[in-house]
Amino acid sequence: MHCPFCGTNETKVVDSRLVAEGQQVRRRRECIACHERFTTFEIAELLMPRLIKADGTRQPFDEDKLRAGIQRALEKRPVSVEAIEACINRIKHRLRATGERELPSRQLGEEVMSELRKLDQVAYVRFASVYRSFQDINEFREEIERLSVDDLPDGKQSEGKA
Ligand SMILES: [Zn+2]
Repeated sequence: MHCPFCGTNETKVVDSRLVAEGQQVRRRRECIACHERFTTFEIAELLMPRLIKADGTRQPFDEDKLRAGIQRALEKRPVSVEAIEACINRIKHRLRATGERELPSRQLGEEVMSELRKLDQVAYVRFASVYRSFQDINEFREEIERLSVDDLPDGKQSEGKA
């Protein structure tokens, strides 16, 4: 990078160390031309948005908590660890892709539900029953009714509509 003192584009790194518990790299650089020294910080652009809870308080995104919640819903279900990790990565990617620094925590809940729904319907119902019970119990009941219709073999479903 360019020297902030003389503007030349040749600088060398004289020292490099991890700071902020390994989340940042701090580099001491020296200009080849004027020999001034300066410091740069490097940080990964992977910051997750903070979550705004219903009561307005903010919480940092907690991947372990997310994983625990998903694993609880998937207890004794035939779903691989790889599938769970892939699902967590998709959720994180979508939250980051919003580009927001803060998001309502219910948005995370909705993302988890949409992933579980594709992954395993039993886990989906388990998670949704806990999650939605604090929101709109009627909406959830409709969802369960709709799911059980979806679960019927094709023939019976069309009979019902006829
Ligand atoms: Zn310089």
